[in-house]
Amino acid sequence: MNILIVYAHPEPRSLNAALKDFAVRHLEGQGHHVQVSDLYAMKFKAVLDADDSVEHPAGERFNPSDASRRAFAEGTQAADIVAEQAKLQWADAVILQFPLWWFGLPAILKGWVERVYAYGFAYGVGEHSDRHWGDRYGEGRMAGKRAMLMVSMGGWASHYSERGINGPLDDILFPIQHGILFYPGFEVLPPFAVYRTSRVDDSGFAAACGALGQRLDGLWSDAPIPFRRQNGGDYAIPALTLRPELAPGRDGLGVHVADDVLATAV
Ligand SMILES: Cc1cc2nc3c(=O)[nH]c(=O)nc-3n(C[C@H](O)[C@H](O)[C@H](O)COP(=O)(O)OP(=O)(O)OC[C@H]3O[C@@H](n4cnc5c(N)ncnc54)[C@H](O)[C@@H]3O)c2cc1C
Repeated sequence: MNILIVYAHPEPRSLNAALKDFAVRHLEGQGHHVQVSDLYAMKFKAVLDADDSVEHPAGERFNPSDASRRAFAEGTQAADIVAEQAKLQWADAVILQFPLWWFGLPAILKGWVERVYAYGFAYGVGEHSDRHWGDRYGEGRMAGKRAMLMVSMGGWASHYSERGINGPLDDILFPIQHGILFYPGFEVLPPFAVYRTSRVDDSGFAAACGALGQRLDGLWSDAPIPFRRQNGGDYAIPALTLRPELAPGRDGLGVHVADDVLATAV
């Protein structure tokens, strides 16, 4: 199988770097092919702007979606975007690996998503009708591929528990897992999470590698988070609200998951 790791940490001697190196060795040891997009090492351009198309006429008003759609359709995207899209097409599974920074993705990885997920590639795909609202949330270009987050946090597991002060990890990661991964069609596995990173010593690192190895071995067999598919009948179209008979009396992010799934905690 082909696995793409999109990796965002600026320090090659960091805990994240060591976990990434372990993941590459482990996967290659199992006979998989691995590519790593090491965004800091690549000095990946983090900001979406008019330079993302090689043909932006000077002085023309810049509309990010329109420019992305045109550049993707006409083959005028910047070369670094094309290269990352090719890696995504190549991959059977994609891992986004990052330290949680201010409750989300480091800017360089958010920028990778904004730029690489072009109109016509990751969004704006498929027909819109009163039965089918585009190929998204369970359908799309990434359908048939799997994805997983590898995320590290300074906070403790309890801080991210159901009643923890930071909010439940599943809720914090929802915009990434549901909005960035499930949206273009990935099946999303529960995240691999390392908490309380400042306390990770040699034995903690060994334990984290052991747990990570198991998760990597389950990339093809573990059950994905059962996010509800948009065009599968659970949502009224075009309002795109969950039908009232599903999760009755409940609201919030959890209603878009058919069952509760917990993160792997180390
Ligand atoms: C801007 C910013 C925002 C942040 N926002 C949040 C937030 O919203 N929520 C939150 O919970 N946390 C937050 N943090 C904390 C952040 O998530 C952690 O600092 C990060 O996850 C730690 O990962 P690291 O790879 O940088 O660890 P490092 O600092 O590199 O390492 C952590 C520990 O692992 C040890 N270690 C053990 N084995 C190894 C090995 N083999 N190689 C390397 N190190 C090893 C190191 O000695 C060190 O003690 C934030 C930090 C920053 C800088």
